[in-house]
Amino acid sequence: MATQPDASEETLANLLHEHRRFPPDAGFTAQANATSSDYEASASDRLAFWAQQARRLDWSHEWTQVLDWSNAPFAKWFVGGRLNAATNCLDRHVAAGRGDRVAYYFEGEGGDTRTITYAQLTDMVCQAANTLTDLGVKAGDRVAIYMPMIPETVVAMLACARIGAPHTVVFGGFSADALRTRIHDCDARIVVTSDGAYRRGKVVGLKSAVDEALLDCPDVRSVLVVRRTGQDIDWTPGRDIWWHDSVDQASTEHHAEDFDAEHPLYVMYTSGTTGKPKGILHTTGGYLTQCSYTHWAVFDLKAESDIFWTAADIGWVTGHSYIVYGPLANGATSVLYEGTPDTPHQGRWWEIVDKYKVSILYCAPTAIRTFMKWGAQIPAKYSLGSLRLIGTVGEPINPAAYIWYRENIGHNRTPVVDTWWQTETGSILVSPLPGVTAGKPGAAMKALPGIVADVVDDAGSPVPDGAGGYLVLREPWPSMLRTIWGDDDRYVDTYWSRFPGLYFAGDGAKKDEDGDIWLLGRVDDVMNVAGHRLSTTEIESALVSHAKVAEAAVIGASDETTGQAIVAFVILRSEAGDGGPEVVQELRDHVAKEIGKIARPRQIMVVPELPKTRSGKIMRRLLKDVAQDRPIGDVTTLADSSVMDLIKAGMPSDA
Ligand code: ATP
Ligand code: MG
Repeated sequence: MATQPDASEETLANLLHEHRRFPPDAGFTAQANATSSDYEASASDRLAFWAQQARRLDWSHEWTQVLDWSNAPFAKWFVGGRLNAATNCLDRHVAAGRGDRVAYYFEGEGGDTRTITYAQLTDMVCQAANTLTDLGVKAGDRVAIYMPMIPETVVAMLACARIGAPHTVVFGGFSADALRTRIHDCDARIVVTSDGAYRRGKVVGLKSAVDEALLDCPDVRSVLVVRRTGQDIDWTPGRDIWWHDSVDQASTEHHAEDFDAEHPLYVMYTSGTTGKPKGILHTTGGYLTQCSYTHWAVFDLKAESDIFWTAADIGWVTGHSYIVYGPLANGATSVLYEGTPDTPHQGRWWEIVDKYKVSILYCAPTAIRTFMKWGAQIPAKYSLGSLRLIGTVGEPINPAAYIWYRENIGHNRTPVVDTWWQTETGSILVSPLPGVTAGKPGAAMKALPGIVADVVDDAGSPVPDGAGGYLVLREPWPSMLRTIWGDDDRYVDTYWSRFPGLYFAGDGAKKDEDGDIWLLGRVDDVMNVAGHRLSTTEIESALVSHAKVAEAAVIGASDETTGQAIVAFVILRSEAGDGGPEVVQELRDHVAKEIGKIARPRQIMVVPELPKTRSGKIMRRLLKDVAQDRPIGDVTTLADSSVMDLIKAGMPSDA
């Protein structure tokens, strides 16, 4: 956490001004799921609003109390209610005659495809549930899932949910070491994996990483292995079981028990952008309710006609809520894509949008900035006419990236939803409502109906419109984390101690003159330059607004005169050349002109890549280590560790 600021620096300076507005289109509004009265309805009786949303699901026993907050901050939602998350995602759609609807269009990296209906997915999940039960997995036991982006990953998750065994999905790209620490932390006894995965046209081993991790996990008794690549793997008889010898042979009959609304559904580790990942616990009833509601309202989902695509990994919370639980609870049809945006070519995503007629696309700003770098001529080659809504998540979206996305992907027709949320919040909490809210490039806008968000100063008092501070939540919400796995004290400490009675998200934010919310980056990243508290996001956005810049990361490096000095790392657009001293000077001046002299970077480094987590977030703490010539910190959740060597190699020796 940031060191305690003194009284003169109570709030974040709020420097960048963005005046473009995109009011909702009347045609969109006329058909929209959300209406402006949803805000008032939820404000007059928040708990009644959430009870009404919970009725989207099938409950075998109705709850007796919507929220029990008597032991705050440990929440219980839908007390006494019972349900099964998997049957809510599957069987009930089949029973309602929708078994032939496609649940997933799977697109493999190499172009292999599978179309899986709700009826087929239900059968596969029942088979996997029977196999897990045969392996001795009982309700409450943890199962680790270390897989590529293939349908069996979804099947494994839902099979766990069906038998009440919380899953913990670990990114297939993480090392054996990262897998081992997660298995230890949640004490998993079963691992589901595959022989290997395809990554940028190459075959990489997953089972080999599991073998290595398990050298130090004596309690893991079974490893269930999907054959994906067909590569050679080591085999431990008695422990390892092929999926095709077990799951594919199992009965498709499985009776699903119901579970308490507060039964653990999964543990998901945070991205580790700011430090060691935390094991976030989500439970069943409230989580599924809010995933279903937000997926319906924020994406304006029409289950009969939309093709929904979250282009994110299932090993990130976005994949859990908006590839698996939200879309399936709503009976939606989704695209599941295994590969990267540039395999085998840089138009791969747009080819997929065109092929499946994707109508709703949800992705991260980092992907958009990469597409900006590659150039607008690439998406221009494809028909994107099926898209009717596009969204982003993961980081603040720079206004320039928002405009690029809106113009080149949304063709100036589609609403753009910038959705703020966290692993901890379980689902989207702050976002425009399409058809209701006007779009402002760079703003996440408003707390959704049923959510009470605020921006407060150092003392916990609400800041006035036009000022910056810290984002907090004033009331509990159904899909909130229940604790950090095995560490209730850390839960209270991390989220509920900074401001008594308020949930502290760890993010800086501002309210604009209309009272709308803008995210300004993490509190850990806030810089203090000559007594002014400056946001990394605003300076990065100013850099990205320059025609030559695709991406930027800003940090505060210690400086003898100013306390901290602004150091920027930028990736140039492909047409901008290599970036000599004139370009650097031009960019420094540009920032000074856009937001003021105080924000002029002391140094700008042109780099080929930035260190990012697997979910695409810039890890500024590592850049800070480089700039200050310190040993590099924890890199276990870095997508590509060779990036740090590239950056260090290009650093001037006096930095
Ligand atoms: P760790 O907590 O371990 O450092 P993390 O915070 O990166 O990791 P996630 O839960 O994946 O892990 O990310 C949530 C964070 O992502 C938010 O707290 C916020 O900083 C950022 N974020 C997500 N969506 C948005 C958005 N729309 N605008 C701005 N920031 C966002
Ligand atoms: Mg976080």
